[in-house]
Amino acid sequence: MCDRRSFLQIAATCLAASSSVAVAQIFPNTDQLTVKKKITGCGISDFIGGSYSVVDSSGISELDQGVQIERQVLNNVFKVSPDFAFIDDKQTPQAFTEKTNDGARIFFGETLAQNERQMNPEFWETAVIGIMAHEWAHAFQYNSGLEELKFIQECHADYMAGWYLGLKYRIVNPDGFARSLYQKPGDNRTGFFDPNNYGSPEQRVAFMMAGFKAGKTAASGTTKPLIWDAANEGYRAVSAIVR
Ligand SMILES: [Zn+2]
Repeated sequence: MCDRRSFLQIAATCLAASSSVAVAQIFPNTDQLTVKKKITGCGISDFIGGSYSVVDSSGISELDQGVQIERQVLNNVFKVSPDFAFIDDKQTPQAFTEKTNDGARIFFGETLAQNERQMNPEFWETAVIGIMAHEWAHAFQYNSGLEELKFIQECHADYMAGWYLGLKYRIVNPDGFARSLYQKPGDNRTGFFDPNNYGSPEQRVAFMMAGFKAGKTAASGTTKPLIWDAANEGYRAVSAIVR
């Protein structure tokens, strides 16, 4: 359980979870593939109209501190190094990932972070880390050249986020992230719960929990967890729904 533990403690657990063994499937072990088009939007929120100002702080000092370490762990596990910044998202609480010429950049709303703490006072750190992992999964998809149906992109990112939390199963509570997924607004503007685009809340939580279980199993094994194994397993599970 992570509850009141710091991000630093949570992050430290995962620093060793990396390797580089090739798996020649949907997600080969390479970062040399070319992404042909930008994947817009995100299941955390799909409203990316307008512009957002980058801000120095999330408004939560422990998050400002911990996020720097968490980024390193996420980079290490997902094999990508996206830029990251907090933004002023007063209009629509959100986080999203954009493709750039040399990788990706992730924006995390200060209002989203503060809402998570307010809605999930007990497990908000897990929820925030889960959202970050969902966005890092998108950066991984970009880097892998995955271009798929929105449902697959988003549910796959949920699976990968769950997998990441599963690697930290000793100190996080996936219920915190599941609760967060359920609590996101379901209006058409965000599209978060539009089954035609993103999958139902039940499907998304189910894929996240399937990923969590796989991550926990991987972290409990004798070999290092591999992002490509998880990505391929998640892709098989998610794509089976629509094919
Ligand atoms: Zn997303």
